[in-house]
Amino acid sequence: MFARRLLALASSSFLALQAVSGQNVPPAQPVEKSTATPAPVRAAIAAPTSPVQPQVTFNSVHVDGPYIALTFDDGPNKTLTPKLLDLLAAHHMKATFFVVGQNAVDHPEILQRAVREGHEIGNHSWSHPNLGKMSDEAVRRELQKTDDAITAAIGKHPTLLRPPYGSITAHQKRWIHDEFGYRIIIWDVDPLDWKRPGPSVVTSRILKETHAGSIVLSHDIHPPTIEAMPATFDQLERKGFKSVTVTELLAMATPLPPKPTPTPRPSPAPGASPASAYTPPPSTTAPGG
Ligand SMILES: [Zn+2]
Repeated sequence: MFARRLLALASSSFLALQAVSGQNVPPAQPVEKSTATPAPVRAAIAAPTSPVQPQVTFNSVHVDGPYIALTFDDGPNKTLTPKLLDLLAAHHMKATFFVVGQNAVDHPEILQRAVREGHEIGNHSWSHPNLGKMSDEAVRRELQKTDDAITAAIGKHPTLLRPPYGSITAHQKRWIHDEFGYRIIIWDVDPLDWKRPGPSVVTSRILKETHAGSIVLSHDIHPPTIEAMPATFDQLERKGFKSVTVTELLAMATPLPPKPTPTPRPSPAPGASPASAYTPPPSTTAPGG
């Protein structure tokens, strides 16, 4: 177990280093300045505390090309997730499913199908608590139990964590990365589909906010979200977007143009995600994420 963690840590650190090598400005920097961002999210998208540390947390990725990552949280759901898998297959799109441990135990066959069809499975905790308010030991139990459930279903450990509500402290991010080898995946596009605003609103919000390198949040436990996907996929395709898994998107990360002189508070780099394209996730008591 310990050796596996070391291995996972070593490989993920290597990948993360690759992903950010040459990057002087963390991509999350401009977003961090948004005054509307709630505190837990600000923590989640904060830049690494030291330039030598690999980037652990991502809410979007700087890529050359029309690549995005569609992510679906809180499942798998017995009927909705298979429907979604049918739609994704028809559109040749890949997605990442951040699953709740109990649901993974109930429907391992859905996770197996997802992986078989090229999708990725990530850890979304066991019982969907606010990790940012919990002890390290309680968080460790939530993550380990879900890691075990996913591994039992698909035969390999997840490498990504999405904290429920996007809530996680800087301290937690570091030790979770060290112990589990996880990269922490937030999002930059949130259609607030859990509020069930209607399929057309979900579609238009995603279309309006998504740009190259976006990580799009939705939930495969709400029927209107799944109803929104055919039109969403059609229109994303029409705009030229290609959806890949989060791990594939991270591997495509390209350096931002270097800034001329290092300063303590650098200006947003050209090509960085505009803060205006970012919708802050809901407050920690809302079911976003
Ligand atoms: Zn969630």
